[in-house]
Amino acid sequence: MSEGQLKVPELVPPVASQLSPGPHSGNGNADKQVDFHARPKFPKDTGFQAELSRRVGAYFQATGKPERDCWQMYLKTFIILAWCAVSYWLLVFVAQTWWQALPAALSLACAFAAIGFSIQHDGGHSAYSRRPWINRLAAWSLDLMGASSYLWHWKHHIFHHTYSNIGGQDTDIELGAVLRVSPHQRRLWFHRWQHFYLWPLYGLMAGRWHLYGDFKDYFTRKIGPHPIPRPKAWEDIVFWAGKLVSIGYFLVLPMFFHPVWLVLLFYLIVTGALGIIMSVVFQLAHCVEEADFPLPDETNRMASAWAAHQAETTVDFARRSPVLSWWLGGLNFQIEHHLFPRVCHVHYPALSKIVEATCNEYGVKYAVHPTFWAGIASHYRWLRRMGQPQTA
Ligand SMILES: [Zn+2]
Repeated sequence: MSEGQLKVPELVPPVASQLSPGPHSGNGNADKQVDFHARPKFPKDTGFQAELSRRVGAYFQATGKPERDCWQMYLKTFIILAWCAVSYWLLVFVAQTWWQALPAALSLACAFAAIGFSIQHDGGHSAYSRRPWINRLAAWSLDLMGASSYLWHWKHHIFHHTYSNIGGQDTDIELGAVLRVSPHQRRLWFHRWQHFYLWPLYGLMAGRWHLYGDFKDYFTRKIGPHPIPRPKAWEDIVFWAGKLVSIGYFLVLPMFFHPVWLVLLFYLIVTGALGIIMSVVFQLAHCVEEADFPLPDETNRMASAWAAHQAETTVDFARRSPVLSWWLGGLNFQIEHHLFPRVCHVHYPALSKIVEATCNEYGVKYAVHPTFWAGIASHYRWLRRMGQPQTA
């Protein structure tokens, strides 16, 4: 079968057409002097990327399955939104005691996470549907949960997906001075204990994102060191509408029925659980012992081509768990997601066999943790290692 006959899924760095080179500062790289004033360049593909695209294209042609617009996604979206609505209703309008409210709050956090992992994430990557308006609608579910889809597009889709684990470029590994997750971030004395204190800090991430981080990025027009363009008028409207609606149902509406202190307490519980779930799922893919943290050379070029870089900086986990695969929107298959971000996540388990075999043939690292807990243990060891003096 020739390549020309195949409808090859898009496998290109998302940054290519969306960014112009722009000046931005570094992040205090302690180990190497790297020029962060220009964005790193990836060398040309040496065959791995082309072969991977060809094989995945052949898979879709042989099975006749659509890359997007999968019926499973529409059913899943309905189930998750119903789960979320019922959890909210139980928490705010039904629960009378703490032992009724607590499970409802945790269920709501898990449902919010499922919306983010499955519906919003696929929509934001244009992996949900061929129709842009359906993807946009799915992506806006993030705004309804209180976080800006406009800022997410730049932070996650552009900076993280293009420059995974590259210090000073990938804003998803910049978690503030309190956490050191990359060997190229400056070590401070208190990082020695970060493998203990980091877990509750993850719990503050969602609330901080909701009430502070987005506003800071929005008004400064910067995400980490990267300047971002001014939002269009409709992006402004979606940003403010999302903040108003989410603050309304998270905080204002419940205050008509419950004491203020109780509403604030349960806001912390729901966003705390959500922050831990989302942080851990991200960290198991990128901040573990098996993931690489490469830097560009003196001429600002990376050693690996883009597709190989994605595989080398990302790790899969718990691939055999259908429950996790469903709940996490396939984000336990992050290598496949990074290579094929515009393919609907329901295909990742099947694609993982093709990706793993191709990586092995081309000598590209393909790392996987057999279980969720193996990933957690590796993340813990990585944090401990990054917190010790003189480690890299
Ligand atoms: Zn993504």
